[in-house]
Amino acid sequence: MTKKENNVGPKKDTGQVFLVGAGPGDADLLTIRAYQLLLQANVVLFDHLVSKAVMALIPNHIETIFVGKQRSRHTLPQEQINALLVRLAQEGKRVVRLKGGDPFIFGRGGEEIETLAEYGIPFQVVPGVTAASGVAAYSGIPLTHRDYAQSCVFVAGHLKDQSVELDWPMLARPNQTIVVYMGLEGLATICTQLVAHGLPLETPAAVIEQGTLPGQRVLTGTLSTLAAQAVDAQIQSPSLVIVGGVVNLHHKLSWFI
Ligand code: SAH
Repeated sequence: MTKKENNVGPKKDTGQVFLVGAGPGDADLLTIRAYQLLLQANVVLFDHLVSKAVMALIPNHIETIFVGKQRSRHTLPQEQINALLVRLAQEGKRVVRLKGGDPFIFGRGGEEIETLAEYGIPFQVVPGVTAASGVAAYSGIPLTHRDYAQSCVFVAGHLKDQSVELDWPMLARPNQTIVVYMGLEGLATICTQLVAHGLPLETPAAVIEQGTLPGQRVLTGTLSTLAAQAVDAQIQSPSLVIVGGVVNLHHKLSWFI
């Protein structure tokens, strides 16, 4: 690999990398641009969140490379993914880096294109439907609603050293919807902390497994019940947690399955 500083921009035969959002699962939620790029790629690098339905749209002659990552099962470390993208582009390939949801929302998309920028590799970014909007739509839980929520925050709820580090006072505000990505493992802690910081125990909360996919499951409860319900129902990843008054609308507005 040759860094940009030692070089005058990309070489003539350098390829290009497209960082593409694959959406939350239902292949119909791909953008037209994402679909067209998948048809024209030389190689597609994808991770576990990209659904089988989306992968099935890629023509057989196009090379696909699985690069992980699942919690505690990193198939390729991030640096190696970055290096692979650079190498493939330097070989002149048209590379699609396909990521679940939107590449700029908890997707490390920024890190991957930073490396490309350093090496002078041309790239483009294609947004995708992020899990929060896909799951909200397919579970009938509007993220904002004039009666229940005037703001909505997206947070990553994964565990660091068995605890969840979040700005709890900011999250535990009234009339706000909280969407927690990667929040399944830390769900009990998240519910407890939100109550400790002022949200009522009976605040509605939901966990949605495999949103937008045929296996979608929606579990609704409250901050005092949801963690135990999720364990009982053996909810698995990928799952999204939604907290706030809007969750009550699910019973009226659900339409999928
Ligand atoms: N870039 C992605 C998010 C990656 S973080 C996006 O914009 O959607 C991975 C987390 O996203 C999962 O742990 C889960 O919380 C959430 N997620 C992604 N797809 C999902 C789905 N189909 N159903 C429920 N949650 C999903």
